[in-house]
Amino acid sequence: MIIHLPNTITHAHAQELADELEALYFAKEAYHVLVTSHTIHTLPSEIAAMALQVWDMPTDMQLSARSYMPHTHRVAIGNTYIGGDGQNQLMIAGPCAVESREQIEQSCQMLKSLGIKVLRAGSYKPRTSPYTFRGLGEDGLKLLTEMREKYGLLIATEMRDATHADKVIEYADIVQVGAKAMYDHGLLTAAGQSGKPVILKRGFSATLQELVHAADFVMSCGNDQVMLCERGIRSYETQTRFTLDLCGVAWLKKHCNLPVILDPSHAMGYAYGVADLARACTAMGVDGLLIETHPKPEQAKSDAAQQLSHEQFEEMYKSLEPIAKAVGKTLI
Ligand code: PEP
Ligand code: MN
Repeated sequence: MIIHLPNTITHAHAQELADELEALYFAKEAYHVLVTSHTIHTLPSEIAAMALQVWDMPTDMQLSARSYMPHTHRVAIGNTYIGGDGQNQLMIAGPCAVESREQIEQSCQMLKSLGIKVLRAGSYKPRTSPYTFRGLGEDGLKLLTEMREKYGLLIATEMRDATHADKVIEYADIVQVGAKAMYDHGLLTAAGQSGKPVILKRGFSATLQELVHAADFVMSCGNDQVMLCERGIRSYETQTRFTLDLCGVAWLKKHCNLPVILDPSHAMGYAYGVADLARACTAMGVDGLLIETHPKPEQAKSDAAQQLSHEQFEEMYKSLEPIAKAVGKTLI
């Protein structure tokens, strides 16, 4: 259940009422928001009398549900946005990991030449094997900060775990919570409290319900700047790395009030399919794409097989424009 209370009462009073209901509480400019478990269906009379509006939600998909807020949240991307009126499709691109100054600088130059706004590269990589490259850590974040200053790009980078969440939040413009971390409620809360835009990736074995509940963890901290990212789920198929769930994307667009972005790179796992998938996703009218591209993919320290060369990326990017236009979107 979601309850809006008037902003004429104090924060302390709203918090008291939330405590009484065992509800989560955060304040918006125009009202206070209380969110209780969906199992509560009756309100104490004092709160019922005071409430501006009450939504009796059938599940714990609450703040992220269209049945609460019918319009897609507008997520700020520097001085532009995705979501809202749905007119923009954002390109988020870069190498899987920041590996060296030379590599990340080459990436920035390519993105800049195409007018792309967001550089995405990880510095804390969640790897399946402990013997593989796990990222440059804070040194990588510092390199990304240099790149932001030099090229005017926004930096999207990932928090792998709680040991460095505060550092990533300090350096990043956009915080990524990866597929393996989607269930980490500590990270979700940290991302929520950061107030920064968040890319929330769907765990590869997570149901859509679990993904939107994870989004509610972020949103219940008062942060509605969340982009849901479908990046492929595990199926019985082994010839591709994962299976991109486009039916799930259609479901999210219908039921969820957050912009949806797609990551065909991790879904496919091989560079050869990424451009076709990017075009298919664009035709679906998604709010953004996340594509991995590396100046020398064969030398990449993580996810080498799926990263596009810069030439492949440029060719793919140029092919998206007419498709985006046909579905009423502008590439940003
Ligand atoms: C990544 O974005 O580089 C990554 C590790 O992706 P995922 O969390 O989707 O596996
Ligand atoms: Mn990757």
